[in-house]
Amino acid sequence: MKIVMKFGGTSVGTGENIRHVADLVTEYAKNDCRVAVVVSALAGVTNSLMEVACQAKKSDAKHIEAFTKELLQKHLKAISIAIKSKVIQKEVNQITENTISELEKVLTGICYVGELTPKSKDYVASFGERLSAPIVWGALKDHKAETQCFTGKEAGIVTDSNFGEAEPLMNYTTHLIRERLGPIVEKGVIPIVTGFIAADQNGVVTTVGRGGSDYTATILGVALSVDEVWIWTDVDGIMTADPRIIPSARMLPELSYQEAAEMAIFGAKAMHPRALEPVIEAKIPVRIRSTMHSENLGTLITDADSAKSTSAVKAVALIKDVAMVNVNGAGMVGAPGSYAKVFDVLGKNGINIMMVSTAVSEANISMIIRRSLVGRALSTLEIALLGRGTVSEVTAEDDVAVVAVMGANMKGTTGVASRIFATVANAGINIRMIAQGSSELNISFVVKEKDGAAVVRAIHKEFALDKI
Ligand code: ADP
Ligand code: ASP
Ligand code: MG
Repeated sequence: MKIVMKFGGTSVGTGENIRHVADLVTEYAKNDCRVAVVVSALAGVTNSLMEVACQAKKSDAKHIEAFTKELLQKHLKAISIAIKSKVIQKEVNQITENTISELEKVLTGICYVGELTPKSKDYVASFGERLSAPIVWGALKDHKAETQCFTGKEAGIVTDSNFGEAEPLMNYTTHLIRERLGPIVEKGVIPIVTGFIAADQNGVVTTVGRGGSDYTATILGVALSVDEVWIWTDVDGIMTADPRIIPSARMLPELSYQEAAEMAIFGAKAMHPRALEPVIEAKIPVRIRSTMHSENLGTLITDADSAKSTSAVKAVALIKDVAMVNVNGAGMVGAPGSYAKVFDVLGKNGINIMMVSTAVSEANISMIIRRSLVGRALSTLEIALLGRGTVSEVTAEDDVAVVAVMGANMKGTTGVASRIFATVANAGINIRMIAQGSSELNISFVVKEKDGAAVVRAIHKEFALDKI
């Protein structure tokens, strides 16, 4: 067996957890399994790096020193618990101190110029994984495993220069990973690769999007032609709903690539939305499983015909942090190209549209976008469209959430939509917008954010998702 194992932030959140990860990896490696490991930053570290970078931009230097000091303490503590050998501890401490001193310089630089570009933001974000990977490497060495540590860049992951959401150049990347990691994996050495971070063709650090270590894992899986990619996390697998909203949510033992991708895109955040792209063509199965309950096999995602179960609805997700933008105007009626103009304006300003709904009257178009982008969307649409005869008003609601109901068997099953909407109506909740893609894999609708969790609970109950 050859496996890529990815460990998320909570799986490497503390020294104890990192030791447990080292136990797991060496256990598999002993049993004739060749393993490559991908690690995330320690839980919460990427968020805190993003926060401090924003503070540094506002020239708030006093935070920097306190922040780096705390970050150093956190990692030194993890090292002292995860690694027993004093010699290895010393080596990893040194790497950690050097890395944090580099981070301090970067943050001070941002503070002086008062500017945080997407490029420098990625550079700051990369420190989370650059700090976690050496600890996992040290813990494995401590277990007498043969191991070698790589950044995404050193491993050969090359992306475009779309900082923040960089896209890997798959053929080049595959070639480099095979060349650099292939031989050492074959020899039984365990490479530890930083998730999430890569480099563009000029060697500048990029990141593949938040939660992107999953993506790193599947990229590596394809390049190394592994048997399976295992995503170790803090839940038993992909569940029928976010267990934080519905504690009785049930683990789904099998999903098709299509279903899992749909769930990832629609907020079942157990996996990065683009993580399945590389493995679909190569037909490499992906398993989502729990570090704490390693005896469970978790959710297996394959190209097998998913629809073994007969239920139409498999899962329900809630996507928060979104806003609804409405463009209205009688002038759009029968005017070819008016929707194109709206999309063009948003696209050119880097605003991704997550969901669209229009009325047959053509006088209104509603779109869902990330909430952080609503100001930019309103101003660019107003500048580009108002006063030109077609659009009379652009408005936004930023207290909404999307509920997505998913399942491959919804395709062709009648009455699912009516059951969903009757359930929402019976809960006394108003629906603001509806969309169903022609794939029929999901029905999504928008409600006020304060009602989101109640809607998810009502639908989970109506379709008895907690029962097998
Ligand atoms: P990691 O740090 O391991 O990458 P994430 O936080 O990215 O973990 O993803 C795991 C979390 O995703 C879980 O703790 C859970 O709260 C959340 N989640 C949301 N929806 C689902 C779902 N349908 N199934 C499983 N987990 C979900
Ligand atoms: N550390 C990164 C993040 O928090 C990547 C990951 O965890 O997958 O987004
Ligand atoms: Mg994640």
